[in-house]
Amino acid sequence: MTGEGLPALAGEGGTQVRDYQVIAQRVRRAIIAPWRLRVTGTQGISPTGGRYDLFLATLPAPSGNPRFRVLINGGTHGDEPGGTEAVVAFLENDPTVRWPDVEFTVLPCTNPWGFEHDRRHGPANHDLNRTFQRATPQTPEVAAVKRGLRGRRFDLFLDCHEDIDTPGLYVFAPAALGRVIVDAVRPIGPVHQGELVDGEIPINNGVVETDANRFRNRRRSWKTWPLPFYVARYHQLLKQPDELSGEDDALPLRGATIETPIFLTMAERVRLHHTALEAALTMLHRKAR
Ligand SMILES: [Zn+2]
Repeated sequence: MTGEGLPALAGEGGTQVRDYQVIAQRVRRAIIAPWRLRVTGTQGISPTGGRYDLFLATLPAPSGNPRFRVLINGGTHGDEPGGTEAVVAFLENDPTVRWPDVEFTVLPCTNPWGFEHDRRHGPANHDLNRTFQRATPQTPEVAAVKRGLRGRRFDLFLDCHEDIDTPGLYVFAPAALGRVIVDAVRPIGPVHQGELVDGEIPINNGVVETDANRFRNRRRSWKTWPLPFYVARYHQLLKQPDELSGEDDALPLRGATIETPIFLTMAERVRLHHTALEAALTMLHRKAR
């Protein structure tokens, strides 16, 4: 999850290890009317001079009357490429066939420079997932996400990440939602069985429970918001706590951050992400409203 203090990977010195333009092409190819693709901004302060279009895709519900609005994000951390791969493949497989009553809003890759250079941080060396309380000129990616989300509200937020040093998948989620995701994944891949992530965060059978007291306290005091905090605060439809949010305070966090273990093959990680998304969307349909 954090990667803090680890030696730089192949991206040291600005070496490109992946090609974001391939991702951009796949996104542009997947988004055909009535789907809409918006370039919300440009990540353009790369030392290598690269400029990267930041995308937000809208997939209207084929039913014409969405029952649910769901936000999906990938690639906030550039050294976690399975998140972006999973989200792009999700678009390519047309999720509106499976979920015709859902309007999807999709951010395929929030940190293209990091994706290309295998870096957790953006080009100005900020962890974008700690800067959502306030965007600055050093974090144009964060400003672009905020611009794209303006005026939108969601029933559920699913954020696709990876972990570079755990032996199995785990999620940050309310206990009930997290349990459903982990149970769905267990038959097809490893689930993190440890008792801590990042050496300090308690985890219970693969779930970091965001409705636990400890996590709630952290959210109250944390000044360095990750994207899920921002979405919960400004872009969530939910006003009353429920089983999917699990909260008993004024700021329910309805959604999950999915972390796949990076040692698996890319195809395996994408499959784990898709299984997790499927489980969360199924639970949304069963439990909500
Ligand atoms: Zn991450």
